[in-house]
Amino acid sequence: MGDQIREACGVFGIYAPRLDVARLTFYGLYALQHRGQESAGICSADGSRLKLRTGMGLVSQVFDEADLEPLQGIAAIGHTRYSTMGSSRFRNAQPLLMQGPEGKLALAHNGNIVNAAQIRANLESEGDHFETSTDSEIIGRFLLSSPGTWGERMAKMMQTFSGAFSLVMLTESAVMATRDPRGVRPLCIGTIEGDYVVASETCALDHIGAEFLRYVEPGELITIDEHGLKSEQVAVPEEPAGCIFEQIYIARPDSVLDGQLAYEARMAMGAALACEAPVEADLVIGVPDSATAHAVGYARESGVPYAEGLVRNRYVGRTFIQPDQRLRDLGVSLKFNPLPSVIGGKRLIVVDDSIVRGTTTPHIVQLLRAAGAAEIHVRIAAPPIRHACFFGVDMATRGELIAARHSIEEIREHIGADSLAYLSMEALKEVVSGKDTHCTACFTGDYPVPVQLDMDKLALEQDELALDGDSPRGVANVAVFSTTRPESVEEEARG
Ligand code: SF4
Repeated sequence: MGDQIREACGVFGIYAPRLDVARLTFYGLYALQHRGQESAGICSADGSRLKLRTGMGLVSQVFDEADLEPLQGIAAIGHTRYSTMGSSRFRNAQPLLMQGPEGKLALAHNGNIVNAAQIRANLESEGDHFETSTDSEIIGRFLLSSPGTWGERMAKMMQTFSGAFSLVMLTESAVMATRDPRGVRPLCIGTIEGDYVVASETCALDHIGAEFLRYVEPGELITIDEHGLKSEQVAVPEEPAGCIFEQIYIARPDSVLDGQLAYEARMAMGAALACEAPVEADLVIGVPDSATAHAVGYARESGVPYAEGLVRNRYVGRTFIQPDQRLRDLGVSLKFNPLPSVIGGKRLIVVDDSIVRGTTTPHIVQLLRAAGAAEIHVRIAAPPIRHACFFGVDMATRGELIAARHSIEEIREHIGADSLAYLSMEALKEVVSGKDTHCTACFTGDYPVPVQLDMDKLALEQDELALDGDSPRGVANVAVFSTTRPESVEEEARG
């Protein structure tokens, strides 16, 4: 269920002069929609100019057929955003298009920079001016104000910035892609009709008919232009720290991470959980959709039959209209609906991927009991989340995490289950490929780079950013879409 886990961001890039790069980027972003639903954007290059369109909302809300036509070109990059640094507003939508002394750069970022404020202060003291409250703009301005080749600039950037960054960038004639030296967030390369594509996840390659080639290596810079694909190692790879939560929840189940299909990794987590925390029951159900694979794995291993006991309204997260008091009093769930004839009188094993704040699980347990479940045994296919993420996944602050403040027995009581068990850290590491190469900090508190524990995602927010063109959530978005449409296709960079 993800109980308020907001994914990371999705990035995509393509260099393919013979293909419709704007349309392919649109479909690439469409496949990466699960990684960010707040805003979306595409920037394209035609050899001499960069053209940008960004907007608030889903990819399908930001773009229609008419919007893609002006974005034709030889290359394009795109972004779907969930804000992990800087608020959800039009100005912060990516790709960011920036002007430097020697040219323009468009940039799409997935990750989080942990020393962003200091670097921004240094750049400001040297005369740089910032237009957004994102850490992504700091990377872009740093690159643009650094001397040397792109490879030299990236090398300097890697030495200066700490945290997680998978970047896809665009100049007038090339696409570039790079990954931080620990490879925290994913980034893969594909081929399409002899040209090249980069994307956060392999599912985006599948959807546009591209073939997976390999992952971008930590500390590697990929440049794709008229000469083909060039690779430079611009930083020495550090101890690998790929986000293990990509395997558990973030990546789409049909994406391949570290050579392992996420769906199969999740089934293996469920199977391991069945071995570690068995219980007598009649049915296994998963909390849809994110825990379905884990539940199937649990059922197969335990021999307890699997069934769908809950139906999820997939679109509920897309509304800003809150239920009224009457609906709240009735305890109606807008997100889940149980199937009473399936679960009535049954002892249930309810498999989920996480409990974050502990706000959703009690409602699910309540719904299942009201629908006639005889017993409810909750099984979580990951260890308890006790620490906040500072690398591009917005879960909650440490104080909001229920497992940071309460024992498992206290959580069981809070959610109203008959029993509760989590997967152990050892078992989780055992079932994911490359088991000793992951960041597991949200479970262990063992961060791969030093972090400031009170870091605030709005730390770079400034009053002057409350400018026209910003898009508050709600009905106003509709007006903003229509009024800002012409301006949001820019041929001149910010800067
Ligand atoms: S802290 Fe957790 S969510 Fe964040 S990068 Fe590490 S494993 Fe992933």
